[in-house]
Amino acid sequence: MTSSLHLRGIRPMGGATADLLVRDGRIAAIGAQVAAPPGVESIDGGGALLLPGLVEAHTHLDKNLIGMGWYRNDVGPRLIDKIDNERRQKKLLGIDPARQSGRQVALSLAKGSTHIRSHVDVDADMGLAGIEGVMATRERFRDSCDIQIVAFPQSGILVHRGARELMEQAMRLGADAVGGLDPCAIDRDPKGHLDVVFGLAERFGKGVDIHLHEPGEMGGFSMELIIERARALGMGGKVVISHAFCLGMDDRDYVARLVELLAEAKVAIMTHGAPYRPVPSVAQLARAGVVVCCGSDGIRDTWGPYGNADMLERAMILGLRNNFRRDDEVELALEVVTGGGAKAMGLARYGIGVGDDADLVLVDAEAPAEAVAARPPRRLVVKRGRVVVTDGVPSVTAP
Ligand SMILES: [Zn+2]
Repeated sequence: MTSSLHLRGIRPMGGATADLLVRDGRIAAIGAQVAAPPGVESIDGGGALLLPGLVEAHTHLDKNLIGMGWYRNDVGPRLIDKIDNERRQKKLLGIDPARQSGRQVALSLAKGSTHIRSHVDVDADMGLAGIEGVMATRERFRDSCDIQIVAFPQSGILVHRGARELMEQAMRLGADAVGGLDPCAIDRDPKGHLDVVFGLAERFGKGVDIHLHEPGEMGGFSMELIIERARALGMGGKVVISHAFCLGMDDRDYVARLVELLAEAKVAIMTHGAPYRPVPSVAQLARAGVVVCCGSDGIRDTWGPYGNADMLERAMILGLRNNFRRDDEVELALEVVTGGGAKAMGLARYGIGVGDDADLVLVDAEAPAEAVAARPPRRLVVKRGRVVVTDGVPSVTAP
């Protein structure tokens, strides 16, 4: 469903005051004075800052605990502790992927995200229930937010019974990308893991988005293998490596070489500015021309209590983690949660230009960097020309 709309007195990216006209869901005109055609609703922006819709490029919609009461976390320290605990808690607590993903999307929308990429667990316990639940949410919010689903083998592929077949079924059901997870550290067979992941991507003609938590040289080795596959299959622009903590390792010469390889192969990096691990340098990646996107990762779940799905806040965390202080640096963090996400997710017609989809956010801020630093309430969120959030309240309710 698309719509026509007129916004007057807005400042795109903090620039000069302008008017903007939306026709059939796309930006038809922007300028100092664009008149509202008869019959088209006109909204006064009051000089507010206009941003493109925020892009949540990495989260886990299927397993948050929003609205389920406080979860007391006493989980062990290892990655595998968290993975095993979560599989248990899903049953014990009754984490319904459809209900929980709906709640998180409503929250994201209220915070101005108009696009979401969600990894969704595929394992022997859940089967495809997570994928089906998030698909139901995607349908529910169809006119408010675009959702991409990554089939995510959270418990591994080779070490987890039936995971390979389930991943294939998830792709057949309509997942948008093939996920993966620590080819060395979890599956202990990088070649076998990547054979499955890229094999599915090739067969179904979809992109790849791999969680890579592996540190240092082990992570670098996995990264090289992923880059080799991306090149060999001509998948430039369709592969994302999420977290990539190895790019935060001390061997800066090796990191520089990996960054070069990423740029050449057009493989994107997702970083969410983890405060607890070495992280990729956003500025280094951007300088090299590597697409960088960002996401909340899991919020309010059995892994950790934090997160509110606000991508402006996430840009601030990225800024803090990367020591961004100057306006141009903070603007780079903002670019990561907008244009960078759009590129990584392969979104066509994203931006605030004539012809782009009218996915827009209006906030009270003087400058883009202030929007990141102050995270003002989202006055208005527009999806394909329709107002979907007014004063922070979405028009579609959460289940
Ligand atoms: Zn994740």
